Amino acid sequence: MNPLELDDYQHIVFFTGAGLSAEAGIPTYRGAGGTWAKYDYRAYACQRAFDGDPAKVWDFHDERRLRMASAEPAAAHRMIAAAQATHPSVAIITQNIDGLHQRAGAHHVIELHGSIWRVRCRCPGAPQVNLEAPIAERLCPTCGVWRRPDIVWFEDPLQPAPIQQGIDAIAACDLLISIGTSGVVYPAAELPRAAAQRGARCIEINPEPTAVSEWYDTHLRTGASDALRSLLPDLATGGTTPG
Ligand code: NAD
Repeated sequence: MNPLELDDYQHIVFFTGAGLSAEAGIPTYRGAGGTWAKYDYRAYACQRAFDGDPAKVWDFHDERRLRMASAEPAAAHRMIAAAQATHPSVAIITQNIDGLHQRAGAHHVIELHGSIWRVRCRCPGAPQVNLEAPIAERLCPTCGVWRRPDIVWFEDPLQPAPIQQGIDAIAACDLLISIGTSGVVYPAAELPRAAAQRGARCIEINPEPTAVSEWYDTHLRTGASDALRSLLPDLATGGTTPG
């Protein structure tokens, strides 16, 4: 398809998922090589698992932190950050927890599923801590019990603030570009539907058809960085390899 002119749009949303960060070397959850092909989420990624064996769940997340800390943002992360720098109305809504949008230079990111770089505790008054080091202090300094990663696990509700910010951004957008999401994790997967229903331009970037492909008027069946290089060549910073 022809390159896009971002100046033709008033409010632009990039809606991103694990496939984007696959280009930075971070495995997706589903599909070949996906995290859940190797690990049972019931033992590593739900509150019950954490309550039963917090050290095991921490070990799993520390390993993920180390992997994410050593990853470099892909070209697509950098192009999205450049789009936000040049078009302040760009909203970035991500299901990813890895912080790679921010490391690529994005200044505001709506994190629907939290961030692996934060931890939280249920005790009253415990501050939410932003971690800079890959390995966190596991016990709450206020109450002395286990803190947990500030991410949305299976069966967790979403935090209301980011979901509302995501709904608002999508309600206002006239261009939505979805990148690297399978569209099966609800309620996040539901959000882009509102843009399609209102007639916004909706572009899906994913090498595979997804559960929600029908909402999109344009499908780019290739990797995130290659697709953005062809869609937004002015933002490409060079290089032709994925990531
Ligand atoms: P998913 O694992 O369900 O699906 C990934 C999608 O990415 C697939 O549809 C796949 O076809 C596509 N894909 C693979 N390679 C791609 C590429 N190079 N370019 C574009 N697309 C590509 O991921 P999801 O839809 O984001 O939902 C799963 C949940 O997993 C989310 O909640 C997310 O928080 C979490 N998750 C996050 C990370 C991360 O933070 N990096 C990693 C794994 C999973």
